[in-house]
Amino acid sequence: MANDVWTSVDDYLAPRLVKQDGALEAARAASVAAGLPEIAVTPVQGKLLQVLAKTVAAKHVLEIGTLGGYSTIWLARSVAEGGRVVTLEADPHHAQVAQQNLENAGVADRVDLRVGKAIESLPVLEQEGAGPFDFVFIDADKPSIPDYFRWALKLTRPGSLIVVDNVVRKGKLADSESRDDAVLGCRRLVELLENESRVCATVLQTVGEKGHDGMALAVVL
Ligand code: SAM
Repeated sequence: MANDVWTSVDDYLAPRLVKQDGALEAARAASVAAGLPEIAVTPVQGKLLQVLAKTVAAKHVLEIGTLGGYSTIWLARSVAEGGRVVTLEADPHHAQVAQQNLENAGVADRVDLRVGKAIESLPVLEQEGAGPFDFVFIDADKPSIPDYFRWALKLTRPGSLIVVDNVVRKGKLADSESRDDAVLGCRRLVELLENESRVCATVLQTVGEKGHDGMALAVVL
């Protein structure tokens, strides 16, 4: 019942506030047609990423977890003039679909899509001196979230914003008995945030067409 209400509110908001265009809709459709899992951010969440990226006037964005490039398109459209998005994806098929979607959306010139495990791509970015990133969106394998967060801290600057998706996991975040690796990754993130003096952070619970979840938001001090 609750999910129906949350979905109806998303359905009410999306056409008014999101103004999805053909490229975003086509990216989602092409991803489904190519057999990618339907786990991209929702349109309203894509708009939230844009609002957040614009709040910090992001020029250099790092995304961990590209899938079909839906959130990447939102981020690429959010960066300031001359800005770039580096996005990391482990699955070559996902990356191939994403690259095509980015080209179709006219943002491929602003996006550096790297194929490989993020934990291997991140040190390469550091060696290249790719940071500091103004905005980091972590949305890949959940057990690795604490590692990605530590990397995000290395690759950002005071004032940067780090957003981590899907950390509430239908409330399982609060289950201290959980043995689920994804939940354990999210709980370790919360411990990190609790003890990390270099960020000011919170977790915001969310509901919507994808159910009950939430995002961690951390501004680097
Ligand atoms: N951000 C995308 C969006 O909203 O459109 C959704 C990303 S999806 C939730 C997670 C993606 O992370 C998948 O495409 C998956 O293949 C990728 N992934 C999983 N493990 C990874 C890893 N170790 N390194 C990089 N990407 C990984």
